[in-house]
Amino acid sequence: MNRFPPMGEVEPLVVPLYQSAVYSIPSLDACDRIYEGSPGFIYARDSHPNAKRLAQLCAEAENAQWGVVTGSGMAAISAMVLPFIKPGDRILASNRLYGRTNQLFNQELPRFGVGCQFVDCNELAQVEKELRAGGKIVFVETISNPLLRVPNLKKLAKLCQDHQALLMVDNTFATPVLCKPLDMGADLVMESLTKVMSGHSDVTLGLIVGNNPDMLAKITPTVTIWGFASNPFDCWLAERGLETMTLRMTAACQNAARLADWLVQQPNVLRVLYPGRADHADHAIASEVLSGGFGNMLCFEVKEGRDGVNRFLRQAPGVPFSPSLGHTSTTLSHPYSTSHRFASDEDRRKQTITEGLVRLSVGCEDYVRLEAEMAKGLA
Ligand SMILES: *Cc1c(COP(=O)(O)O)cnc(C)c1O
Repeated sequence: MNRFPPMGEVEPLVVPLYQSAVYSIPSLDACDRIYEGSPGFIYARDSHPNAKRLAQLCAEAENAQWGVVTGSGMAAISAMVLPFIKPGDRILASNRLYGRTNQLFNQELPRFGVGCQFVDCNELAQVEKELRAGGKIVFVETISNPLLRVPNLKKLAKLCQDHQALLMVDNTFATPVLCKPLDMGADLVMESLTKVMSGHSDVTLGLIVGNNPDMLAKITPTVTIWGFASNPFDCWLAERGLETMTLRMTAACQNAARLADWLVQQPNVLRVLYPGRADHADHAIASEVLSGGFGNMLCFEVKEGRDGVNRFLRQAPGVPFSPSLGHTSTTLSHPYSTSHRFASDEDRRKQTITEGLVRLSVGCEDYVRLEAEMAKGLA
């Protein structure tokens, strides 16, 4: 008897959730064929249908030849970097990276004899100088946190090529809707699918995409052996989120641009940072690199520092303090207390991360409602 109900000539419109950790294999010959690359699954840590499908859909979105889904964004960064380093190598990391990525590069990897040099990726001469001194990998984010600096990916890719280094890009803040770094010459790109790409704050997943099949052949065993695999239900939810990614991101970019222009006019706002505004440090580069819009992230500084922010939080409960990004509706973060909590005072001063600085992940809700809630917070 069939173990599953027969489908006849139909198949489900929505992809089924294959919540199975292991598969039943009909014969030893079939087992051999699957190990040799025929379609099929054996053990979910190696591969499973929901991850495989999600990876294909994401690869399409990124204009990539292949994609690999991992259990988190950090797992994706680890699986992207580990196959390409050995003791004695040096990573050139942007000095504006996500905090956990920083820790991976300057706390974890040095224990394996891998060095890390932080560089300002918006200063190409500095990157070139460090590449000359030796660098295996340049690691950068398309849009940095929280100041939303945008490096020139095309020029970085060219520099890396000239010095036989790999350019790896964390595209989480941009998503493929705004930028496809592989098209600009990046070697490998990762995303935290936890954020905009899934978009509903209910999964933790990561993605690696690339074009070079040799790189895929190195990354695949790293994911399996180190245990960076994803779980099926998260992949199923992420696929559902991905279907509206472009719609959500396009609407959120429009909301963010409008809100940035409105915030500039508010008496209790000292400054606004948004790459789409002509007064942003990287507006010209962003206009080239972010071909799909200037993003849903923006920062502003309120008067009266910490007290001003606390007042905002009390008065605008509709914009929750929730230190992540990419939700359907707008959320707020406070870099000084969260992402840059453990940064040195000097680093925070240099980056102008003050106690009054607020970061918004603008959502795709109705703009009028959003502006009204923001007005309450700033009153
Ligand atoms: C959240 C985030 C990560 C890590 O992703 P997780 O899914 O939380 O592991 C990496 N880079 C950036 C820019 C992020 O915002």
